[in-house]
Amino acid sequence: MDAGLYIHIPFCVKKCPYCDFYSITDRSLHPAFMDALISEMRMTRDPNLTFDTLYMGGGTPSVLDAKTIAKIIETACQSYEILPHAEITLEVNPGTVSLKQFEEYRFFGVNRVNIGVQSFDPVNLQFLGRIHSGRDAHAALTWAQKAGFENLGLDLIYGIPNQTKKTWLMDLKLAVESKPQHLSCYILSFEPGTPLYRDRQEGRLKPLAESQVCELFETTLEFLSDHGYIQYEISNFARESMNSSGLKTDGDNRSRHNMKYWKFVPYIGLGPSAHSFLEPKRYWNCADVKKYIQDLNAGRLPRAGEERLSTEQLMIEAIYLGLRQTKGILIDVFDKKFGVNFKAIFEEIIANLEARGLIVLSQNRCALTSRGMLYLDSIAAMFI
Ligand code: SF4
Repeated sequence: MDAGLYIHIPFCVKKCPYCDFYSITDRSLHPAFMDALISEMRMTRDPNLTFDTLYMGGGTPSVLDAKTIAKIIETACQSYEILPHAEITLEVNPGTVSLKQFEEYRFFGVNRVNIGVQSFDPVNLQFLGRIHSGRDAHAALTWAQKAGFENLGLDLIYGIPNQTKKTWLMDLKLAVESKPQHLSCYILSFEPGTPLYRDRQEGRLKPLAESQVCELFETTLEFLSDHGYIQYEISNFARESMNSSGLKTDGDNRSRHNMKYWKFVPYIGLGPSAHSFLEPKRYWNCADVKKYIQDLNAGRLPRAGEERLSTEQLMIEAIYLGLRQTKGILIDVFDKKFGVNFKAIFEEIIANLEARGLIVLSQNRCALTSRGMLYLDSIAAMFI
C-alpha cells in the first residue's frame, strides 16, 4: 500500500491544559522552523516509497498562512513521490482562520480539512482552554464548505467534568448539522505532565464517573448511527454514502491517512516529535523546536530515538491496532503475516472475553463489541 507523510507543525496560539502534543507558542521561530523543515524533507527523500496521503497536523497548522502551507506542499511534492490523487489534509483550529484563508489553502492543494471544534458549549470550551467560541467553530465550518472543501472532518471531545448526556447530545447535534464527512469523538484523557492531570492528582478537579463516560460513549454510537455515520474505529466515524452498486459505504469518507496508523502501512513523520514507521523499524524526532532547528542547520537529522520491533512486539501491535477498528483483527492476514494460528494461541482468552460480551469471534475476524471498546487497553493487555 502507498505510504503516508505526516508533517508536525509545532506552534499553537495558546497551550490547552489537557494536551500532551508537542507545541510551543513562540511565533518568532516560524521562519527558522520552515527552513529546517525544508532541509529535513530534502534529506529524507525515499525513492522506494510512494505516498497517497500528506497530513499537516500539530500543533495548529492554521497558524501558518496559506503561502507557507503552499511552500510545504510544494517541497513535499519535490522531495517525495506524492501521487496525484493524494489526500492532503490540514488541521485547522477555529479562531485562527478566515474564509479567505480556507480559499487559499484549497487553491494551493489542500483537499481535506480537519477542524478542531472540540465543543460548541461555552462552559466546555472554557474548561478545555480553547481560544475559540462556539460561534467561531460554526464560522470555520461554514467557511470551509463555502471555500469548496468537500472532505471535512470535525473533532469533538466528551467526558468533560460536569458534562451531561443532554449537553453532549447538543454538541453532537450541532456537529452533524453541518454534515461533515468525518467525525472524531475523543474521550477526554488525563495525560501525565499536563495541567489537567495535575489538577486531578491534586484534587482540584473531579473527573466524570466511569459509568457516565460509558453512557456518553453509548450515546455517541447510537446518535451517530441514527444520523448516518458509520463507526470504523473506536473514536472515528465516517458519513455513509452509496457506492456504485447502491450499497451503503463509509469508504470514501474515512481518514485515509489515519487508517495507515491502524493498518501497519509505512509512514514518515517530519517535524519536531514526529514518529515514523517502516516495518519493523520505528524512529522519532526530538520534541524541541530549537534543537530540531540546530540539528538540521548542522546537517544532522533531528532523531531522538529508534527501535526495531521484534516479531512478538509486532504481534502485540497488530492485536492492539486491529482491536481499535470495528472490523477487528483479520485472522487470515494475522496468521499469514506471523506464521501462527491466532485462534489456537488465544483460544482461552477469546473464550473468556466472549463469555463476558466484550469480544466477537467470527470465521475470520476477532473484534471488540461496543462495550469491549471501552476497555481496549486492558483487553489488549490480556493478549500479551
Ligand atoms: S490547539 Fe491543539 S495542539 Fe495546540 S495545545 Fe490545544 S489541543 Fe494541543
